[in-house]
Amino acid sequence: MARKIGSRYTANQILGRGSAGTVWLGEGPEGPVAIKLLREDLASDEELVGRFVQERAALLKLDHPNVVSVRDLVVDGNDLALVMDLVRGTDLRTRLDRERRLAPEAAVAIAADIADGLAAAHASGVVHRDVKPENVLLDMQGPLGPGGAHPALLTDFGVAKLIDTPRRTRATKIIGTPDYLAPEIVEGLPPTAAVDIYALATVLYELLAGFTPFGGGHPGAVLRRHVTETVVPLPGIPEELWQLLVQCLAKAPASRLRASELASRLREQLPSLAGLPPLDVDEPDTEPAEPHEEPTAEPAPRERVRRGAVPLVRGAKPDSNRDTHTSMRVPAPDELAGGARGTARAPRAAGTPRPGSARNRASARRRRITLGAAAVVLVAAAGVGTWMAGAGDDPAGSPKNDTENSAPEAP
Ligand code: ADP
Ligand code: MG
Repeated sequence: MARKIGSRYTANQILGRGSAGTVWLGEGPEGPVAIKLLREDLASDEELVGRFVQERAALLKLDHPNVVSVRDLVVDGNDLALVMDLVRGTDLRTRLDRERRLAPEAAVAIAADIADGLAAAHASGVVHRDVKPENVLLDMQGPLGPGGAHPALLTDFGVAKLIDTPRRTRATKIIGTPDYLAPEIVEGLPPTAAVDIYALATVLYELLAGFTPFGGGHPGAVLRRHVTETVVPLPGIPEELWQLLVQCLAKAPASRLRASELASRLREQLPSLAGLPPLDVDEPDTEPAEPHEEPTAEPAPRERVRRGAVPLVRGAKPDSNRDTHTSMRVPAPDELAGGARGTARAPRAAGTPRPGSARNRASARRRRITLGAAAVVLVAAAGVGTWMAGAGDDPAGSPKNDTENSAPEAP
């Protein structure tokens, strides 16, 4: 069922559904495009539409091989649509779900691509604010790079900023996905370019390990870990790569590398990573062992439930890419300090016996998810995409080029 989007585009077929709307395979004057049609409640929000139009200049100028280009923004009657380059492939979450862990060379090649895309964005004053595997598209028609990795492109630039209006989130709320949130955001500081570096390092860790460094359990616990816990080494990770991760996961934003430097440091390591197999690590437990469960003879099949991927409203259905964008209450300092688990979540080398290993992980996880769903204070519609991150942000240390703060372009 085809539908017209503005005067220039036709949406022909649904490619996927996200938290901010539906993405269509479409056709424009210059050939096939992807069209993200925003959810009705977002499209009918006048304030949001105003911002959308204001941000279009900054969105449209981002042009880099590792960024999914936005070609047009269409405001047409009730429709609010973002026309972007069509990427033929899959997103990084889908690949990670399939392979669980990537070989270091492929993981580093993908991270280096994203760092390059971020460097371009940061240089023009744009902070992404929602770097995570769901927002990385792999171009299966592009040339194969190191480790057999297809080119990686960062998408959804700027959606967080657009959604993050004072009315939607108030001053005490934050937007993002808990596993990838930098500690300074949890503490209520304004997001700078360094939050993208933290998120990208989290993604790289996840590609290598199969789990995020601070994820798992109640979203509030995840936020607390970002602030209070130190990242625990992954068994078998090459030392230089580990040092890069540690530096980019630093609690202090100023200690993290800039995107361009991270990209080149990652690429420098590629030759030494060639041919290495995926790391052999087991996910750490995040729940205490259940006292009443008898060991079962057959271990439960390893669950593929993503840590931290909890629905934030009771009964809410996860969207197609299990996006966990959320807006939640920032924990008070005493909540952050209290009951910390410390750093006892060290990943074990695979095969190391784990305490209570025969417990039923599935039921523990179900409980954890229910708990998370019941307890989180949700203020915005569950799941919002990200938008323009430019205006008003001050990307830490990136060459300040204030074009995103320039006069809004007329619609
Ligand atoms: P949201 O961020 O709003 O949750 P996404 O941007 O993840 O939504 O889009 C949902 C799905 O649409 C993705 O999983 C992907 O399959 C598809 N998609 C999004 N953008 C593109 C694109 N530029 N090219 C091809 N497919 C896309
Ligand atoms: Mg997205």
